[in-house]
Amino acid sequence: QAKAITAVGPNSVAAFDRACQLMPGGVNSPARAFGAVGGTPLFIESAKGPYLYDVDGRRYLDYIGSWGPMILGHQNPEVVAAIQAAILRGTSYGAPTEAESELAERIIEAVPSIDKVRLVNSGTEATMSAIRVARGYTGREKIVKFAGNYHGHVDSLLVSAGSAAATLGVPDSPGVTKGAGGDTIVLPHNDLAAVEAAFAAHPGQIAAVILEPVVGNMGCVPPCDGYLQGLRDITARDGSVLIFDEVMTGFRVAFGGAQQRYGVTPDMTTLGKIVGGGMPLGAYGGRREIMDQVLPAGKVFQAGTLSGNPVAVAAGNATLKRLKAQPPYEYLEKIGTQLANGLGQAAEAAGLPHQVQQVGSMLTLFFNGSPVTNWEQSDRNDRQQYAAFFWGLIRRGVYPPCSQFEAMFLSETHTEAMIDETIAAAKEVLQEIAAS
Ligand code: PMP
Repeated sequence: QAKAITAVGPNSVAAFDRACQLMPGGVNSPARAFGAVGGTPLFIESAKGPYLYDVDGRRYLDYIGSWGPMILGHQNPEVVAAIQAAILRGTSYGAPTEAESELAERIIEAVPSIDKVRLVNSGTEATMSAIRVARGYTGREKIVKFAGNYHGHVDSLLVSAGSAAATLGVPDSPGVTKGAGGDTIVLPHNDLAAVEAAFAAHPGQIAAVILEPVVGNMGCVPPCDGYLQGLRDITARDGSVLIFDEVMTGFRVAFGGAQQRYGVTPDMTTLGKIVGGGMPLGAYGGRREIMDQVLPAGKVFQAGTLSGNPVAVAAGNATLKRLKAQPPYEYLEKIGTQLANGLGQAAEAAGLPHQVQQVGSMLTLFFNGSPVTNWEQSDRNDRQQYAAFFWGLIRRGVYPPCSQFEAMFLSETHTEAMIDETIAAAKEVLQEIAAS
């Protein structure tokens, strides 16, 4: 039983004070600083299965899962064993290994759009590289992205980005030059007419359209009916490259990602998170003739000292092997629906305006009276209510995302009983919010 707690413990407070002297905002990635909900972040000591343990010895049911990777829960024994075995053979060689081909085979087999793949170190590198390759392949310069979609901190994509960029109110970051953002056309999400209009205005000039096929970075936003197919049709007609950023959704909403789930195949796909099994690893891939543009097969430069790192690759192989052999997707769908329904009923009972949006094991309870299909609608969420919801759950030993603009992630180690406990905790918190 997770015991009820009152506040962030003294050890986290001391750890954060120290970290703030040493690192900007005390963290190595902004969302972790709890800026959106206010207060001191919990410092984590360890994690096992569905639980996080903080430096004050408190246990939390984890609904972040490292922001997506931990679909098998923390310390999955097969993944840990693979990492340990890999380390004992050496941690980096800067030379090719057979394990990289094994991971490439697993990715190519799983993801419909990928004939060839390149391994990199993060989701950011994957999207940055995919954009470069799409530009090299088409000889065009403009790209289309959608407001509220986050693709990592790539200069040209850090405009109207969701996630921490939205939370912290820096949709256009200082340091991104006009030039870097100048070829980026930002359109409203889930709006095919806007895409048609952009292609009509810039025929033959748009190298790529990039999107999160299920958005996780403005909260969970599924594609409207026909949206993905419409993008497929428009880009194909114009000879533009359609890129699905499946860093979050890959191996998450289905083994083959959103493209498998929705039956729409893009030209290129970016991956991260689950593909590295909790180690730093990303990937980008696509149609053979596009990927053959990449050096040394082609002329588009992209490289990395630690790319295809043997320890990260071992974690990725073990994770994908397990996901293929014992697919958790039906179970995840079931507990995802259980949690979504439970949260929805709890918010309804409390009389709070809300939306629950769920795709498999990704979901968001929006404090918002109307459906969220794009950034403008997501931006209307009641952030104060979300902050109260967050802290109420933390006090009850449940760790949800520390921003309304991030999705909850489930793992196969979350049991139905744990989901029920979470719903009961949420019910109490939502009643408190309604009463305040
Ligand atoms: N694309 C998407 C859809 C993401 O959600 C993220 C990270 N949350 C990224 C790209 C960037 O990945 P990374 O943080 O590994 O650079």
